[in-house]
Amino acid sequence: MGTSSQSPLWGARIGGMTEVRTSVRIRQAVTSLPSYVPGARPGHGDVAKLSSNELPFPPQEAVVAAMTRVAAEANRYPEMTGEGLVSALAHRWGVEASQVVVGNGSVALIQHLLDTVCDQGDEVVMPWRSFEAYPICVAVAGAHAVTVPLTSQGRHDVPAMLAALTPRTRVVMACTPNNPTGAALSAEELTALVEGVPRDVVVLVDEAYLDFVTDPSVGDALDLLPHHPNLVVSRTFSKAHALAGLRVGYLIAEPGLASAVRSVATPFGVSLPAQAAAVAALGEEVRAETARRARLVVAERERVVAALRGQGWEVPTTQGNFFWLGVGDQAAALAGHFAQAGVLVRPFAGEGVRVSIGTPEENDRVLEAAAAWSAR
Ligand SMILES: *Cc1c(COP(=O)(O)O)cnc(C)c1O
Repeated sequence: MGTSSQSPLWGARIGGMTEVRTSVRIRQAVTSLPSYVPGARPGHGDVAKLSSNELPFPPQEAVVAAMTRVAAEANRYPEMTGEGLVSALAHRWGVEASQVVVGNGSVALIQHLLDTVCDQGDEVVMPWRSFEAYPICVAVAGAHAVTVPLTSQGRHDVPAMLAALTPRTRVVMACTPNNPTGAALSAEELTALVEGVPRDVVVLVDEAYLDFVTDPSVGDALDLLPHHPNLVVSRTFSKAHALAGLRVGYLIAEPGLASAVRSVATPFGVSLPAQAAAVAALGEEVRAETARRARLVVAERERVVAALRGQGWEVPTTQGNFFWLGVGDQAAALAGHFAQAGVLVRPFAGEGVRVSIGTPEENDRVLEAAAAWSAR
Protein backbone atom coordinates (compact mmCIF):
# COMPACT_ATOMS: atom_id res chain seq x y z
CA MET A 1 0.00 0.00 0.00
CA GLY A 2 1.21 3.55 0.01
CA THR A 3 2.28 3.40 -3.62
CA SER A 4 -1.14 4.04 -5.09
CA SER A 5 -0.42 7.74 -5.47
CA GLN A 6 2.37 6.92 -7.94
CA SER A 7 0.44 4.56 -10.19
CA PRO A 8 -1.42 6.33 -12.96
CA LEU A 9 -5.08 5.61 -13.38
CA TRP A 10 -5.83 4.26 -16.81
CA GLY A 11 -9.00 5.91 -17.95
CA ALA A 12 -10.70 3.87 -20.61
CA ARG A 13 -14.05 4.03 -22.26
CA ILE A 14 -14.28 0.29 -22.66
CA GLY A 15 -16.74 -0.84 -25.27
CA GLY A 16 -18.12 2.67 -25.49
CA MET A 17 -19.43 2.31 -21.93
CA THR A 18 -18.97 4.85 -19.19
CA GLU A 19 -15.37 5.54 -18.45
CA VAL A 20 -13.68 2.92 -16.30
CA ARG A 21 -10.83 3.90 -14.00
CA THR A 22 -8.33 1.32 -12.93
CA SER A 23 -4.72 1.26 -11.77
CA VAL A 24 -4.13 -1.71 -14.05
CA ARG A 25 -2.93 -1.35 -17.59
CA ILE A 26 -5.71 -2.46 -19.94
CA ARG A 27 -4.75 -3.84 -23.40
CA GLN A 28 -5.07 -1.13 -26.00
CA ALA A 29 -7.22 -3.42 -28.17
CA VAL A 30 -9.68 -3.59 -25.28
CA THR A 31 -9.85 0.13 -24.51
CA SER A 32 -10.80 0.85 -28.11
CA LEU A 33 -13.41 -1.90 -28.56
CA PRO A 34 -16.61 -0.94 -30.35
CA SER A 35 -19.64 -1.42 -28.13
CA TYR A 36 -22.22 -4.18 -28.51
CA VAL A 37 -25.64 -2.62 -28.20
CA PRO A 38 -28.03 -5.30 -26.95
CA GLY A 39 -31.60 -5.23 -28.17
CA ALA A 40 -33.71 -3.01 -25.94
CA ARG A 41 -35.47 -4.83 -23.11
CA PRO A 42 -39.01 -3.88 -22.15
CA GLY A 43 -39.50 -2.12 -18.82
CA HIS A 44 -43.10 -2.91 -17.99
CA GLY A 45 -46.41 -2.63 -19.68
CA ASP A 46 -47.49 -4.04 -23.00
CA VAL A 47 -44.38 -3.93 -25.16
CA ALA A 48 -43.49 -6.06 -28.17
CA LYS A 49 -39.78 -6.93 -27.89
CA LEU A 50 -38.74 -7.17 -31.52
CA SER A 51 -35.17 -5.99 -30.98
CA SER A 52 -33.12 -9.20 -30.65
CA ASN A 53 -34.43 -11.66 -33.26
CA GLU A 54 -35.67 -14.03 -30.59
CA LEU A 55 -38.44 -16.53 -31.21
CA PRO A 56 -41.76 -15.15 -29.91
CA PHE A 57 -42.64 -18.58 -28.42
CA PRO A 58 -41.28 -20.03 -25.16
CA PRO A 59 -39.17 -23.21 -25.23
CA GLN A 60 -41.18 -26.40 -25.65
CA GLU A 61 -42.34 -28.37 -22.61
CA ALA A 62 -40.04 -31.33 -23.27
CA VAL A 63 -37.06 -28.96 -23.35
CA VAL A 64 -38.07 -27.21 -20.14
CA ALA A 65 -38.61 -30.63 -18.52
CA ALA A 66 -35.12 -31.76 -19.55
CA MET A 67 -33.43 -28.76 -17.96
CA THR A 68 -35.60 -28.99 -14.88
CA ARG A 69 -34.59 -32.64 -14.41
CA VAL A 70 -30.89 -31.82 -14.29
CA ALA A 71 -31.31 -28.72 -12.12
CA ALA A 72 -31.18 -30.86 -8.96
CA GLU A 73 -27.74 -32.18 -10.01
CA ALA A 74 -26.18 -28.76 -10.41
CA ASN A 75 -23.67 -29.39 -7.63
CA ARG A 76 -21.85 -31.53 -10.24
CA TYR A 77 -19.93 -30.25 -13.25
CA PRO A 78 -21.45 -30.94 -16.64
CA GLU A 79 -19.52 -32.96 -19.25
CA MET A 80 -16.38 -30.98 -19.96
CA THR A 81 -16.74 -30.72 -23.73
CA GLY A 82 -20.46 -31.56 -23.84
CA GLU A 83 -19.89 -35.07 -25.23
CA GLY A 84 -23.58 -36.02 -25.11
CA LEU A 85 -24.64 -32.90 -26.97
CA VAL A 86 -21.72 -33.22 -29.39
CA SER A 87 -22.70 -36.76 -30.33
CA ALA A 88 -26.37 -35.77 -30.71
CA LEU A 89 -25.31 -32.94 -33.06
CA ALA A 90 -22.96 -35.24 -35.00
CA HIS A 91 -25.82 -37.68 -35.46
CA ARG A 92 -28.19 -34.89 -36.47
CA TRP A 93 -25.89 -33.51 -39.18
CA GLY A 94 -24.16 -36.68 -40.36
CA VAL A 95 -20.68 -35.63 -39.30
CA GLU A 96 -18.12 -37.11 -36.88
CA ALA A 97 -18.25 -36.09 -33.21
CA SER A 98 -14.63 -34.96 -33.64
CA GLN A 99 -15.92 -32.24 -36.00
CA VAL A 100 -18.29 -30.60 -33.51
CA VAL A 101 -17.39 -28.00 -30.87
CA VAL A 102 -20.08 -26.71 -28.51
CA GLY A 103 -19.84 -23.49 -26.54
CA ASN A 104 -21.49 -20.82 -24.47
CA GLY A 105 -23.37 -19.37 -27.43
CA SER A 106 -22.03 -19.20 -30.97
CA VAL A 107 -20.53 -15.77 -30.34
CA ALA A 108 -18.20 -17.32 -27.74
CA LEU A 109 -17.20 -19.95 -30.28
CA ILE A 110 -16.51 -17.33 -32.95
CA GLN A 111 -14.23 -15.65 -30.41
CA HIS A 112 -12.50 -18.97 -29.68
CA LEU A 113 -12.00 -19.61 -33.40
CA LEU A 114 -10.44 -16.18 -33.95
CA ASP A 115 -8.25 -16.65 -30.86
CA THR A 116 -7.16 -19.97 -32.34
CA VAL A 117 -6.00 -18.68 -35.72
CA CYS A 118 -5.24 -14.94 -35.43
CA ASP A 119 -1.95 -13.45 -34.37
CA GLN A 120 -1.56 -9.78 -33.50
CA GLY A 121 -2.28 -7.63 -36.55
CA ASP A 122 -3.67 -10.43 -38.74
CA GLU A 123 -6.65 -9.54 -40.89
CA VAL A 124 -10.22 -10.78 -40.84
CA VAL A 125 -12.35 -9.97 -43.87
CA MET A 126 -16.05 -9.49 -43.14
CA PRO A 127 -19.13 -8.07 -44.84
CA TRP A 128 -20.44 -4.84 -43.36
CA ARG A 129 -23.04 -4.00 -42.14
CA SER A 130 -23.30 -7.38 -40.48
CA PHE A 131 -23.53 -8.86 -36.97
CA GLU A 132 -22.13 -6.28 -34.58
CA ALA A 133 -20.41 -8.92 -32.43
CA TYR A 134 -17.92 -9.67 -35.23
CA PRO A 135 -15.70 -6.55 -35.03
CA ILE A 136 -15.58 -6.88 -31.25
CA CYS A 137 -14.47 -10.51 -31.43
CA VAL A 138 -11.85 -9.61 -34.04
CA ALA A 139 -10.47 -6.77 -31.94
CA VAL A 140 -10.36 -8.92 -28.79
CA ALA A 141 -8.34 -11.48 -30.77
CA GLY A 142 -5.84 -8.70 -31.53
CA ALA A 143 -6.65 -8.86 -35.23
CA HIS A 144 -7.74 -6.19 -37.68
CA ALA A 145 -11.23 -6.17 -39.23
CA VAL A 146 -11.28 -5.51 -42.97
CA THR A 147 -14.88 -4.59 -43.73
CA VAL A 148 -16.35 -5.00 -47.20
CA PRO A 149 -19.55 -3.01 -47.86
CA LEU A 150 -22.73 -4.92 -48.69
CA THR A 151 -24.34 -4.35 -52.09
CA SER A 152 -27.25 -1.91 -52.32
CA GLN A 153 -29.56 -4.90 -51.79
CA GLY A 154 -27.93 -5.71 -48.46
CA ARG A 155 -26.14 -8.72 -49.94
CA HIS A 156 -22.55 -9.93 -49.47
CA ASP A 157 -20.33 -8.63 -52.28
CA VAL A 158 -18.41 -11.89 -52.79
CA PRO A 159 -16.00 -10.65 -55.51
CA ALA A 160 -15.12 -7.62 -53.38
CA MET A 161 -14.60 -9.85 -50.34
CA LEU A 162 -12.21 -12.07 -52.30
CA ALA A 163 -10.43 -9.00 -53.63
CA ALA A 164 -9.87 -7.86 -50.02
CA LEU A 165 -7.72 -10.91 -49.19
CA THR A 166 -4.06 -10.17 -48.46
CA PRO A 167 -1.21 -12.38 -47.24
CA ARG A 168 -2.21 -11.33 -43.69
CA THR A 169 -5.81 -12.55 -43.99
CA ARG A 170 -6.46 -15.42 -41.60
CA VAL A 171 -10.27 -15.55 -41.65
CA VAL A 172 -13.06 -14.58 -44.04
CA MET A 173 -16.48 -14.33 -42.42
CA ALA A 174 -19.91 -14.70 -43.97
CA CYS A 175 -23.30 -14.29 -42.31
CA THR A 176 -26.15 -16.01 -44.13
CA PRO A 177 -28.88 -14.90 -43.78
CA ASN A 178 -27.13 -11.65 -42.94
CA ASN A 179 -28.00 -9.91 -39.70
CA PRO A 180 -29.41 -7.22 -40.01
CA THR A 181 -30.30 -7.03 -43.72
CA GLY A 182 -31.77 -10.54 -44.09
CA ALA A 183 -30.20 -11.45 -47.44
CA ALA A 184 -28.74 -14.95 -47.74
CA LEU A 185 -25.94 -16.23 -49.97
CA SER A 186 -26.98 -18.38 -52.94
CA ALA A 187 -25.30 -21.77 -53.34
CA GLU A 188 -23.23 -20.25 -56.19
CA GLU A 189 -22.11 -17.29 -54.09
CA LEU A 190 -21.20 -19.54 -51.19
CA THR A 191 -19.23 -21.88 -53.44
CA ALA A 192 -17.45 -18.94 -55.11
CA LEU A 193 -16.50 -17.58 -51.69
CA VAL A 194 -15.25 -20.87 -50.27
CA GLU A 195 -13.37 -21.83 -53.43
CA GLY A 196 -11.84 -18.39 -53.81
CA VAL A 197 -10.07 -18.52 -50.45
CA PRO A 198 -6.69 -20.26 -50.00
CA ARG A 199 -6.77 -23.41 -47.88
CA ASP A 200 -4.75 -21.93 -45.04
CA VAL A 201 -7.34 -19.18 -44.51
CA VAL A 202 -10.48 -20.01 -42.52
CA VAL A 203 -13.88 -19.37 -44.04
CA LEU A 204 -16.37 -18.95 -41.20
CA VAL A 205 -20.00 -19.18 -42.27
CA ASP A 206 -22.46 -18.09 -39.58
CA GLU A 207 -25.81 -19.79 -40.19
CA ALA A 208 -27.65 -18.61 -37.08
CA TYR A 209 -30.87 -18.10 -39.06
CA LEU A 210 -30.72 -21.10 -41.40
CA ASP A 211 -33.98 -22.56 -40.03
CA PHE A 212 -35.94 -19.63 -41.48
CA VAL A 213 -34.57 -19.99 -45.01
CA THR A 214 -37.20 -20.91 -47.60
CA ASP A 215 -35.54 -19.85 -50.88
CA PRO A 216 -34.24 -23.09 -52.48
CA SER A 217 -31.40 -21.22 -54.22
CA VAL A 218 -29.81 -20.38 -50.85
CA GLY A 219 -26.68 -22.39 -50.09
CA ASP A 220 -25.81 -24.40 -46.98
CA ALA A 221 -22.14 -24.36 -46.02
CA LEU A 222 -22.39 -27.82 -44.50
CA ASP A 223 -22.66 -29.26 -48.03
CA LEU A 224 -19.23 -27.84 -48.86
CA LEU A 225 -17.50 -29.03 -45.70
CA PRO A 226 -16.28 -32.44 -46.97
CA HIS A 227 -14.15 -30.75 -49.66
CA HIS A 228 -13.00 -27.70 -47.73
CA PRO A 229 -10.92 -28.37 -44.60
CA ASN A 230 -10.66 -24.60 -43.96
CA LEU A 231 -14.45 -24.16 -43.71
CA VAL A 232 -16.17 -23.63 -40.34
CA VAL A 233 -19.95 -23.62 -39.98
CA SER A 234 -21.45 -21.80 -36.99
CA ARG A 235 -24.96 -22.49 -35.66
CA THR A 236 -26.91 -21.72 -32.54
CA PHE A 237 -29.80 -22.81 -30.33
CA SER A 238 -30.63 -19.14 -29.68
CA LYS A 239 -32.96 -18.45 -32.60
CA ALA A 240 -35.30 -21.10 -34.08
CA HIS A 241 -34.77 -23.38 -31.05
CA ALA A 242 -36.00 -20.59 -28.74
CA LEU A 243 -33.12 -21.00 -26.26
CA ALA A 244 -31.40 -17.59 -26.43
CA GLY A 245 -31.41 -17.31 -22.64
CA LEU A 246 -29.51 -20.58 -22.16
CA ARG A 247 -26.47 -19.69 -24.28
CA VAL A 248 -25.51 -22.64 -26.44
CA GLY A 249 -24.10 -22.77 -29.94
CA TYR A 250 -21.79 -24.99 -31.98
CA LEU A 251 -19.21 -25.08 -34.74
CA ILE A 252 -18.73 -27.82 -37.30
CA ALA A 253 -15.29 -28.09 -38.92
CA GLU A 254 -12.58 -30.51 -39.97
CA PRO A 255 -11.39 -32.54 -36.90
CA GLY A 256 -7.91 -30.96 -36.65
CA LEU A 257 -9.26 -27.43 -36.62
CA ALA A 258 -12.15 -28.41 -34.34
CA SER A 259 -9.66 -29.88 -31.88
CA ALA A 260 -7.59 -26.68 -31.90
CA VAL A 261 -10.69 -24.57 -31.17
CA ARG A 262 -11.73 -27.00 -28.41
CA SER A 263 -8.36 -26.47 -26.76
CA VAL A 264 -9.01 -22.71 -26.60
CA ALA A 265 -12.67 -22.97 -25.53
CA THR A 266 -13.63 -22.60 -21.87
CA PRO A 267 -13.73 -25.99 -20.15
CA PHE A 268 -17.30 -26.86 -19.07
CA GLY A 269 -18.36 -23.90 -21.25
CA VAL A 270 -21.92 -25.16 -21.77
CA SER A 271 -23.84 -25.37 -18.49
CA LEU A 272 -25.60 -28.52 -17.32
CA PRO A 273 -29.14 -27.25 -18.05
CA ALA A 274 -28.05 -25.87 -21.40
CA GLN A 275 -26.58 -29.21 -22.45
CA ALA A 276 -29.74 -31.06 -21.35
CA ALA A 277 -32.02 -28.57 -23.10
CA ALA A 278 -30.04 -28.64 -26.34
CA VAL A 279 -30.04 -32.46 -26.43
CA ALA A 280 -33.81 -32.43 -25.85
CA ALA A 281 -34.20 -29.81 -28.60
CA LEU A 282 -32.65 -32.29 -31.04
CA GLY A 283 -35.26 -34.97 -30.25
CA GLU A 284 -37.44 -35.88 -33.20
CA GLU A 285 -40.76 -34.61 -31.86
CA VAL A 286 -39.32 -31.39 -30.53
CA ARG A 287 -37.61 -30.75 -33.86
CA ALA A 288 -40.86 -31.29 -35.74
CA GLU A 289 -42.56 -28.67 -33.56
CA THR A 290 -39.57 -26.33 -33.91
CA ALA A 291 -39.88 -26.61 -37.69
CA ARG A 292 -43.62 -25.93 -37.46
CA ARG A 293 -42.99 -22.79 -35.39
CA ALA A 294 -40.30 -21.65 -37.83
CA ARG A 295 -42.86 -22.00 -40.62
CA LEU A 296 -45.29 -19.81 -38.65
CA VAL A 297 -42.59 -17.16 -38.30
CA VAL A 298 -41.79 -17.39 -42.00
CA ALA A 299 -45.48 -17.04 -42.93
CA GLU A 300 -45.65 -13.93 -40.77
CA ARG A 301 -42.43 -12.61 -42.33
CA GLU A 302 -43.93 -12.93 -45.80
CA ARG A 303 -47.18 -11.31 -44.68
CA VAL A 304 -45.46 -8.38 -42.96
CA VAL A 305 -42.95 -7.70 -45.73
CA ALA A 306 -45.68 -7.78 -48.40
CA ALA A 307 -47.87 -5.43 -46.36
CA LEU A 308 -44.98 -3.01 -45.79
CA ARG A 309 -44.16 -2.96 -49.48
CA GLY A 310 -47.84 -2.29 -50.07
CA GLN A 311 -47.47 0.74 -47.79
CA GLY A 312 -44.60 1.93 -50.00
CA TRP A 313 -41.65 0.80 -47.88
CA GLU A 314 -38.53 -0.56 -49.50
CA VAL A 315 -37.81 -3.84 -47.73
CA PRO A 316 -34.91 -5.98 -48.94
CA THR A 317 -35.68 -9.66 -49.46
CA THR A 318 -35.14 -11.43 -46.15
CA GLN A 319 -34.57 -15.07 -45.26
CA GLY A 320 -34.25 -14.52 -41.52
CA ASN A 321 -36.83 -13.95 -38.75
CA PHE A 322 -36.40 -10.19 -39.14
CA PHE A 323 -36.42 -7.50 -41.80
CA TRP A 324 -34.51 -4.31 -42.52
CA LEU A 325 -35.74 -0.79 -43.11
CA GLY A 326 -32.83 1.15 -44.57
CA VAL A 327 -34.05 4.60 -43.58
CA GLY A 328 -30.55 6.07 -43.15
CA ASP A 329 -30.41 9.08 -40.85
CA GLN A 330 -34.05 8.58 -39.84
CA ALA A 331 -33.15 5.35 -38.01
CA ALA A 332 -33.26 6.79 -34.49
CA ALA A 333 -36.48 8.71 -35.16
CA LEU A 334 -38.19 5.65 -36.65
CA ALA A 335 -37.13 3.51 -33.67
CA GLY A 336 -38.53 6.19 -31.36
CA HIS A 337 -41.77 6.15 -33.32
CA PHE A 338 -42.04 2.37 -32.96
CA ALA A 339 -41.29 2.64 -29.23
CA GLN A 340 -44.18 5.12 -28.88
CA ALA A 341 -46.38 2.46 -30.45
CA GLY A 342 -45.16 -0.17 -27.96
CA VAL A 343 -42.69 -1.88 -30.28
CA LEU A 344 -38.99 -2.22 -29.43
CA VAL A 345 -36.83 -2.45 -32.54
CA ARG A 346 -33.07 -2.27 -33.14
CA PRO A 347 -31.87 0.99 -34.70
CA PHE A 348 -28.43 1.30 -36.33
CA ALA A 349 -27.71 5.01 -36.22
CA GLY A 350 -27.52 6.58 -39.66
CA GLU A 351 -28.24 3.27 -41.40
CA GLY A 352 -31.60 1.75 -40.63
CA VAL A 353 -33.81 -0.25 -38.32
CA ARG A 354 -34.00 -4.01 -37.85
CA VAL A 355 -37.35 -5.43 -36.78
CA SER A 356 -37.82 -9.03 -35.61
CA ILE A 357 -40.89 -11.02 -36.55
CA GLY A 358 -43.09 -11.51 -33.49
CA THR A 359 -46.52 -12.95 -32.87
CA PRO A 360 -49.26 -12.02 -35.38
CA GLU A 361 -50.61 -9.43 -32.91
CA GLU A 362 -47.17 -7.88 -32.44
CA ASN A 363 -46.63 -7.80 -36.19
CA ASP A 364 -49.99 -6.08 -36.67
CA ARG A 365 -48.79 -3.43 -34.27
CA VAL A 366 -45.64 -3.02 -36.39
CA LEU A 367 -47.74 -2.59 -39.54
CA GLU A 368 -49.98 -0.05 -37.89
CA ALA A 369 -47.02 1.97 -36.63
CA ALA A 370 -45.30 1.77 -40.00
CA ALA A 371 -48.43 3.09 -41.74
CA ALA A 372 -48.67 5.95 -39.25
CA TRP A 373 -45.02 6.86 -39.92
CA SER A 374 -45.65 7.07 -43.65
CA ALA A 375 -48.79 9.16 -43.07
CA ARG A 376 -47.02 11.74 -40.88
C1 LIG B 1 -28.21 -14.10 -32.89
C2 LIG B 1 -27.00 -14.41 -33.68
C3 LIG B 1 -26.11 -15.40 -33.27
C4 LIG B 1 -26.37 -16.19 -32.03
O1 LIG B 1 -25.40 -15.98 -31.08
P1 LIG B 1 -25.45 -16.83 -29.74
O2 LIG B 1 -24.20 -16.44 -29.06
O3 LIG B 1 -25.42 -18.27 -30.18
O4 LIG B 1 -26.70 -16.49 -29.02
C5 LIG B 1 -25.02 -15.67 -34.05
N1 LIG B 1 -24.81 -15.01 -35.20
C6 LIG B 1 -25.65 -14.08 -35.64
C7 LIG B 1 -25.40 -13.41 -36.93
C8 LIG B 1 -26.75 -13.73 -34.88
O5 LIG B 1 -27.57 -12.76 -35.31
